[in-house]
Amino acid sequence: MTDTPATPEPLLPERLARAITLGGPIPVAQFMAAANAHYYATRDPLGATGDFVTAPEISQMFGELIGLWLADLWDRAGRPELHYVELGPGRGTLAKDALRAMAKAGLMPPVHFVETSPALRAAQAQAVPHAQWHDDVTSLPEDAPLLIVANEFFDALPVYQIVRRGEAWHERLVACQDTMFLPIAGKAVPDDIVPEALRDAAAGSIIESSPASVAIVRALAKRLAAQGGAALIVDYGYDGPAVGETLQAVKGHGFANPFDNPGDQDLTAHVDFATLAGMAELSGAAVHGPVAQGDFLGLLGIAERAAALARAQPDRGGDLAEAHRRLTHPSEMGALFRAMALIGKGWPAPAAMG
Ligand code: SAH
Repeated sequence: MTDTPATPEPLLPERLARAITLGGPIPVAQFMAAANAHYYATRDPLGATGDFVTAPEISQMFGELIGLWLADLWDRAGRPELHYVELGPGRGTLAKDALRAMAKAGLMPPVHFVETSPALRAAQAQAVPHAQWHDDVTSLPEDAPLLIVANEFFDALPVYQIVRRGEAWHERLVACQDTMFLPIAGKAVPDDIVPEALRDAAAGSIIESSPASVAIVRALAKRLAAQGGAALIVDYGYDGPAVGETLQAVKGHGFANPFDNPGDQDLTAHVDFATLAGMAELSGAAVHGPVAQGDFLGLLGIAERAAALARAQPDRGGDLAEAHRRLTHPSEMGALFRAMALIGKGWPAPAAMG
């Protein structure tokens, strides 16, 4: 026998095209999950040279104020032993800034990161070397309260879509023609899976849902109910269920067609805060908010923090003012982004949630 050269692993678009050719069109959620798993596993997408910038990458003030918010809850809960948990920590910047602020308040918890991307785990290990990593929330410790942070995590989780065609709602699937991926209407779905208030929406309407997000919130809320602690979810979103397609792709700081180039651009969908809040309450957590990110950071004292930093480093005054504006102004991240807290049994109400 002669040695044949190893066949390289086919690229994600080829793998997806082959799967669709053999097995038929796939749900939008399956396409999004495969695309994002590949996307995050193969790069660090954050920052000026990447595809998008997140709040903790804009300024250290974001993570610091979240750290103070957590330390205040911990203090008023009687300063118990607990764990810091972050879902999808990116480069670890938020955690690093929050842990520094918490340490100043006397809180130095063990750190747990839920992260699937090897590339980002490596970046996180640079920022927070003593962290422990988890593939999902099921392996998080059970012995003490949890302080959980998720910034721009839930928007990366897959959404299903249904689309109204004529008199019926159909699941939206992704088909493949030659090398092009495109959305099509699949089988009609039973009426009872369509939220009642939306059943008569106009032809062409799309409704999204994220069972993966709901499952994670349920698991977190059950933990908070059993163990105590709190979770802070910050993301862009709406109060659903509602009609509207929010699935979007970002590449090099601009928008792109979400069905093009799977695995090479960031796919997100807006987070349905009302549905997540409902599930959290059903699972035993108290829900506070969501409130606009600008209001949340304002009440936590971002203006004072920016002024203090500028006094210490006068040459950075302009940058700090610009970061403050980007994080809080309604035309930037101040209004579209919102913060929501889940609070465990016996824990106090959080600050800055109205
Ligand atoms: N929170 C960071 C990064 C946001 S990007 C910040 O604000 O800068 C989304 C993050 O979620 C990345 O770290 C990505 O690798 C991670 N992620 C995406 N899907 C995930 C999944 N299913 N499980 C765990 N982590 C996931």
